[in-house]
Amino acid sequence: MIYSSYDTIILDLDDTIWRGHNTNGIWAKHMDNTWVLDDKGSAIGNDNHRLKLDLEIRDFLNAYRDKNLGFLTRGGIKYVQWEDQPVIKCLKLFKIYHYFKYDSYVLYKDDKKSRVFLPEGKTLYIDDDNDQLADIRYSFPDVTVLNRHSFDKWTQLI
Ligand SMILES: [Mg+2]
Repeated sequence: MIYSSYDTIILDLDDTIWRGHNTNGIWAKHMDNTWVLDDKGSAIGNDNHRLKLDLEIRDFLNAYRDKNLGFLTRGGIKYVQWEDQPVIKCLKLFKIYHYFKYDSYVLYKDDKKSRVFLPEGKTLYIDDDNDQLADIRYSFPDVTVLNRHSFDKWTQLI
């Protein structure tokens, strides 16, 4: 396991572990409570909004389940409780919520992730967004940051 020496792995969610299928871009927060899972593992919401989980993320999470696994997203909706946040519902719908036992945060689109980021030991952070990677790299020079676009399948990281 190439990241076996890491103690903590923190993941972005939108466009990192899942992606929306729509011409305008769909994030978890656009989904509503009518989602169902189809047989290909996509969550389908109203207006045919679709969110597809990277299939091999399960293998990744399972391989590193004994590490501190956390998520850090800016896909939150203000004034909505944790349990009702669409990202939390998506994690539960995909049955991967239980892997994230480490400190995890649902922020809003104008928040800075470095404000709450909490490294523990040797820490890896994975995100699809260069600005957010730069924010973490600048504030936490000891943290390894990895761009989601730098690899194809999650199994390449195991
Ligand atoms: Mg993202």
